[in-house]
Amino acid sequence: MRYNDIATLLFHTPLEDLLRRADALRRRHHGDHVYVRGLLEFGNVCICNCRYCGLRHANTRLPRYRLSPRDILSIAETIAASGADTIVLQSGEDPSLPATALAPLISTIRERTGLAVTLSVGERPRADYALWKDAGATRYLLKHETADPDLYARLHPGRTLAERLRCLDDLIDLGYATGSGFIVGLPGQTPEILVKDILLARALGVKMCGVGPFIPQADTPLREAPPGSVALTLRVMAVLRLALPHAYLPATTALATLDPVAGQRDGLRAGGNVLMPSFTPDKYRGNYRIYDNKACIRLEEVKEAITRAGRTHSLR
Ligand code: SAH
Repeated sequence: MRYNDIATLLFHTPLEDLLRRADALRRRHHGDHVYVRGLLEFGNVCICNCRYCGLRHANTRLPRYRLSPRDILSIAETIAASGADTIVLQSGEDPSLPATALAPLISTIRERTGLAVTLSVGERPRADYALWKDAGATRYLLKHETADPDLYARLHPGRTLAERLRCLDDLIDLGYATGSGFIVGLPGQTPEILVKDILLARALGVKMCGVGPFIPQADTPLREAPPGSVALTLRVMAVLRLALPHAYLPATTALATLDPVAGQRDGLRAGGNVLMPSFTPDKYRGNYRIYDNKACIRLEEVKEAITRAGRTHSLR
């Protein structure tokens, strides 16, 4: 698939055609099963200053938290009991969390629950990724966010796309099932950039790819920017399914912000085959405010969305 093929699918193919093709391909390669990942947002401390994200370091209005290893373990047990197939440990980029502190937690989760461990804790030296891999982590989520180097640099002060890609290369090289992804409707994004996002995900050969619409957050420099289009996000998901038939494609939380059940169901109909309910404790949920009005996807809504999409799961 080349640039023009993707551009045609994305911008000129009638929606019904696109969805039908994506859905057929999803069924052929993955069947009707929906994979469920238990998301634990275990800390919101972050040194980055991504211009779209409410966790950005410069946001002094956000109360910060870090869950204790004990709490993380007990939530891991809850996730295992739910029937989800992996725990996703996600946090802001927190260098005060030493790699050597996360490693024993990973091995304890593996021993006590048997869950696959997925990490999503940002950019780190290769040695950290290697240590966590040895401790038993097998999957890693690190979105490239945007494939355009200039837009990337403008949105991520002090960071570069090249460095992000170095991390993704390291993760793939170390044998992680690696997931990338990007944001649809970022201020400054052009249709050409969106095509390049899909091409990049394909070139990286990622095992997972998460896309969600941009949603403004009141305590960020992009508070006034218009949100990304949900309809376009669904088109992007469908094209991703055609470009990456074997990949796991989540219906992201951002897609579900307007209506949790309908948003997730639509994502499942646009080629998606993964949902990510949150197991973050209620008292911290509001503080993992990457964007405003963030939906809290609970297990019950996940089950309902799967049923309404006519699909199957192995949740209890
Ligand atoms: N620190 C980790 C996790 C980041 S938060 C990392 O760097 O990978 C998870 C995702 O939220 C980000 O990858 C980004 O794509 C998304 N996100 C952040 N702010 C957003 C916003 N305003 N609108 C939509 N998505 C956003």
